[in-house]
Amino acid sequence: MRDPVTPTAPPFTVTAALAVLLLVPAIGPAAREAAGSPGAATSTGAPAAASSVAPGGVVRWPGRGIDRCQLGDLQWPPWDGACWFAVDLLQEAGPLELERVRLGSSERLIVTVADYPYAVQRLRVAPEMADPPADQLGRIRRETERVGAVWSLGGTPLFRLPLGPPLAPMPNRRSFGSRRIFNGQPRDPHSGVDLSAPTGTPVLAAERGRVAIASDLYFSGNSVFIDHGGDLVTMYFHLDRIEVRDGEAVERGQVIGTVGSTGRVTGPHLHFGVRWHGARVDPALLLGDPARVPVVGSDHPG
Ligand SMILES: [Zn+2]
Repeated sequence: MRDPVTPTAPPFTVTAALAVLLLVPAIGPAAREAAGSPGAATSTGAPAAASSVAPGGVVRWPGRGIDRCQLGDLQWPPWDGACWFAVDLLQEAGPLELERVRLGSSERLIVTVADYPYAVQRLRVAPEMADPPADQLGRIRRETERVGAVWSLGGTPLFRLPLGPPLAPMPNRRSFGSRRIFNGQPRDPHSGVDLSAPTGTPVLAAERGRVAIASDLYFSGNSVFIDHGGDLVTMYFHLDRIEVRDGEAVERGQVIGTVGSTGRVTGPHLHFGVRWHGARVDPALLLGDPARVPVVGSDHPG
């Protein structure tokens, strides 16, 4: 999780005329809504909120001559002519400060993280998956640490958007972000999409990259994490078989395993997840047309 950023920052100049955009947290095109300028576009004081983004959403801030992009303590280079900001599913509602350095000057933009809009999902799983036994807590903690190390490996981006489908054909997807109640107990919201498919269905790498983890993990079962460079990681959980090894280079569309029902599941399916710059985002946003990712700022209207 990133720390929320307070809006009381030094007076950087915001050069952009600000558009107000609304990112709808569902699959499909984001609704854009011109809502008039908040009037702070050229002010040197604290900028007004420029747009709204749902937790788990992505916005891009295009511009010429971008040196680097920043959110909280994290910095990264621009990609495809823009700073791409992924907003974590658990980011709390309120102002969020996006920063960049462009043509030698610091720029910043405040977006509003909308209220958490997702549905509640009640699930029944094996008792030890809702409430792990004490002798498994050490294992779970070690796995959490190992997984946490792969979110920001950096490196040259090896990917292009949209990502390729992890199953072919792609079944209907459901339930990104839903608040989850396992056997009556609230747990973290769902940070990926679940794709129903029979056990044994081939699972495909969404893009080329390097296998960061290929291992049996307590909750996610047989799991593959692929690092695509540029702090983009895709995840494939509950596999029946894993067909790649740690450190292996994989190609876009390569079979990396098969659909199964290992770990905390109610039946066979593929859980497909994406982290970008550490943030849990809706995979649908990166499986769709990147031109639909909402633009903030104004160097390139629309
Ligand atoms: Zn899932």
